[in-house]
Amino acid sequence: MSGLSLAAHLAVADHRHPVVVVDDGSRPVEDGAWASWSAGAGMLDAAAHRWFDKIRVHAGGRTTVLPLGRYRYRVVRGRDLAEVVHRYTDPLPGFTRQRGHVDGFTDGGLVVDGRFVRARWVFDSVVGPGETPPLDAQLVFRGWRVSSERGVFDAEIPTLFDFRTSQTHGASFVYVLPEDTHHALVEHTAFVAPGAAQDETAQREALAEYLAEVAGATGYEVEREEHAVLPLCAAQPPRAHGHVLTIGARGGMLKASTGFAYQRVQRDSAAIAWSMSRHGHPFDLPRAPGRFPLLDSVLLDVVTREPVQLERAFAALFRFRTAEPALRFLDEETTLSQEMRLFAGMPAATYLAAARRRLTSSAGGASRATTSR
Ligand SMILES: Cc1cc2nc3c(=O)[nH]c(=O)nc-3n(C[C@H](O)[C@H](O)[C@H](O)COP(=O)(O)OP(=O)(O)OC[C@H]3O[C@@H](n4cnc5c(N)ncnc54)[C@H](O)[C@@H]3O)c2cc1C
Repeated sequence: MSGLSLAAHLAVADHRHPVVVVDDGSRPVEDGAWASWSAGAGMLDAAAHRWFDKIRVHAGGRTTVLPLGRYRYRVVRGRDLAEVVHRYTDPLPGFTRQRGHVDGFTDGGLVVDGRFVRARWVFDSVVGPGETPPLDAQLVFRGWRVSSERGVFDAEIPTLFDFRTSQTHGASFVYVLPEDTHHALVEHTAFVAPGAAQDETAQREALAEYLAEVAGATGYEVEREEHAVLPLCAAQPPRAHGHVLTIGARGGMLKASTGFAYQRVQRDSAAIAWSMSRHGHPFDLPRAPGRFPLLDSVLLDVVTREPVQLERAFAALFRFRTAEPALRFLDEETTLSQEMRLFAGMPAATYLAAARRRLTSSAGGASRATTSR
């Protein structure tokens, strides 16, 4: 997803240099689909298959339908993303695709299927930096593409989170992305501590229970199952190594408190392409204020210790007339005073204790690093 997105942005901003997109086909883009929210137009918007302007949330014992304000929620399917990207890149003779397995990087290039390929710059979404910051949590999710005999889904409103599911196996909620009234992706999502044991059976039971008791689906068929464990790391990993820049999930684009990456990848791709066209290198990239990674790591610390706190936090963030304040915060575009307003009502002592733990552990890490030098 990030390689294709960047290729399209480079094709528009800086197509003086040849670009090769290398993929070994181990995870075909056609199998993927990404939901995300955004405000304003994006270069690859034509790839969106569905747009929504409301979401449903169920937290703190009540269901609310929230307009998205200046945001819209959209779903991009992998095949549509590839097609739209190729509309930008195919007319450019310097832009090509190569099927091949990247083995690693060397001075002046990379190794694909055992053979050296010269490259001035390498954008790496598959190998990653040698050293990564420690994980804060994992996002474990299992989704069923369900076909229901009865039309039980609301075709126009996705459910971003519904906490009517057991919290025994981690801070958990169910996400519902409808296709029409009979078909939806119903996903069980849990934030768990790094390395925590996963219980596939419990996750499937939770999905079946949600479908029967909350959604009211009877006689449904599970057409497809997807499952993933996303490593969540609030701190930004080092991205630049000589001529290699890490991109995508491995480049820190997964937002640690949500597991969403699509929209951050779009912003990052635009910034890389701008840096390339302006400076001839890809390293002049904006950085979000440091408090956002800290807030993410504090939230993950709290919810992995005390799972019920996730529902309270989301209920507080999404308690306004629209979802806009919460989405702006998750996009790391809020001011401090807006954040203070958002956090009012959350248990301050719990979060302050977690903040102290995080700050102490990062100070310990820094002094250890200093000692070892
Ligand atoms: C099941 C699932 C659902 C998700 N849903 C969403 C969502 O709805 N919204 C959202 O914002 N985020 C979502 N994410 C998180 C994130 O957006 C995705 O993981 C996203 O695909 C990350 O993009 P990427 O470019 O880093 O990696 P990928 O999209 O996985 O791309 C990596 C590519 O590299 C290829 N490859 C792998 N190893 C090699 C190698 N050694 N050599 C050559 N090629 C190689 C693969 O074939 C693949 O095409 C989801 C993640 C998962 C796992």
